[in-house]
Formats: sequence, structure tokens, C-alpha cells
Amino acid sequence: MLSATPQRLIFAGFTSVFAAGVWFAGPAGTVEQAQEVQVHAVAGTVSWLEGSGGNVGVCAGPDGVLVIDDQMKPIEPKLVAAIESISKAPWRFVLNTHFHGDHTGNNATFGLRAPIVAQANVRTRLLDDKGKNGAMAASGLPVVTFEDGLELHLNGEDIRVKHYPHAHTDGDSVVFFAKANVVHMGDLFFAERFPFVDLDGGGSVRGLIAAVDEILKTLPDDVKIIAGHGPQSTKVELAAYRDMLVDSVKLVGDAQRAGKTLAQMKQDKVLSKYSSLAWQFISEDTFLETIARELGVK
Ligand SMILES: [Zn+2]
Repeated sequence: MLSATPQRLIFAGFTSVFAAGVWFAGPAGTVEQAQEVQVHAVAGTVSWLEGSGGNVGVCAGPDGVLVIDDQMKPIEPKLVAAIESISKAPWRFVLNTHFHGDHTGNNATFGLRAPIVAQANVRTRLLDDKGKNGAMAASGLPVVTFEDGLELHLNGEDIRVKHYPHAHTDGDSVVFFAKANVVHMGDLFFAERFPFVDLDGGGSVRGLIAAVDEILKTLPDDVKIIAGHGPQSTKVELAAYRDMLVDSVKLVGDAQRAGKTLAQMKQDKVLSKYSSLAWQFISEDTFLETIARELGVK
């Protein structure tokens, strides 16, 4: 039996880092560890904010403000100031793309400003997460939950929120802005780096591929993509990420069929063609371990 320990250790690493309130350096040029928040206008009413944790989406207009994800606790004053630099209008909803602490770290206070909306499994996992990130305050729990999706009608946009089961976690949502032609992918997309796939949180590499495949079919060619982590991207870049995922699973599967153990695969560096996507949290070996564990490699 392949031990689940490596993935658990990785996840523990994520959560302990979150709990410590620090973030990690991404590849050169990103500001994930930044103590400042950068605001990027995307199109129409939609902006994204880069700071400490997952990328935040903002839809601001005459109806008020929708905030998508809320990063980590220490950045709160700067994140609020950055959102208010876009619009001082009242907040209407806060949406969590999934339960991870680098996307829900300010739920407790943001939930006092506007109702938190999320897929039902996000609420369940935040309630169950006492041993990992610490208990979420009642004000930080989603109060509007859904199973498969919902639409928000704000600021002239019909904002479609769709759930993809068993991808990065089991509670992921992707947010589509049809008029602005923008999509916020949550952590279904780590731009320019290997993804973290939370197998212990209901995620699946093959489920992630299925989700990205489905999303790619629906996106216009000129869509602007907000990644969960990493820079704003294009559909071509998302398609390349999908191809990398498919090829990585094939490479590990081929090695498995050739009778290789995980240790041998590491020695053979079966994912070395993608070594440039390694970053502080997800090394080539870490991503290999995740795929191998999912495929049942010995
Ligand atoms: Zn995540």
C-alpha cells in the first residue's frame, strides 16, 4: 500500500504555514509573499488582487462589490484598502472558491461585511477543519451554500458560479463573467507552476483534468483568466497547463505499467521535462508523489 503520509505531510505543511500567517515565495516575479496588495484591472467590472495567498477577484459597480476569496489573515488591512481603492460601495457577497486557508483566511471578518457564498463542501470542511487550520469563527462560515452552482446578477453581469467535483478539492467553484469575458479559476489553475492537488481534501488529478477539459470547451478564445495562483493568463496557457497534467499522468502511468516503484520513478525523474514548473511548495517529486498516490503506485 502506498502510504498516504507524503501527501499528508505536504498538506500539514500548507496548513502550518497558513497558521503561521506567512506565505511562500512563488517563482520570480510573483508577489505571493508580498506584504503589499497589487490591484490589476482585468475587464469591465472585474479586477484581481495579488497579495498574500490565493488571487482575489473583485466585481465592483453600481450594485456593490463581490469579493472572490480573501487570502490570509495578516494581509487584511491592505486587502480591504485595495478593494476600497476599486470601490467604496457596500460589499454584497464574499465567495469562497474552496476551503483552503490561503483563500478563506479573512472569512471571519469579511463575513461580517457580506454573506459568504460557497459550495456546500466548503462549509462542511471549514466546520470539520478544527485540527488543521483551527476552528473557523461562526462569522467566517458560508451562509449561502449550493451543490452544483448558482448565478449572481450584479453590476450588469450574469455571474455564473459552477462547482467541479473532485478537482483541486471536493468543493471547488469556478466563476464566469460572461459580459466582461473573464473567469476566476480558483485553484483549478496554478499558472506557471505545478498544482497542489489536495487528495485528502477530496481532490483528484484526473478529476482536475476532467474539470479543466470541460472548462476549456466553454471558454471563448479571448477570455481573460484569473488563476488561483500565478499571473493572469490566456486560454492557450490554460490549455498548455491541461496538456501538462495529462502528460504527467501518462508518464507516471507508463512507468507504473513498466513495473517501476515510486522510488524508481523519482530516481528516473519521470517528470523532469516539466522541472521549470517546480516551486517552493510543489517540487517535481511532490507532484510525482501526488500522481503516484492517486494511481496506486507501489
Ligand atoms: Zn487551494
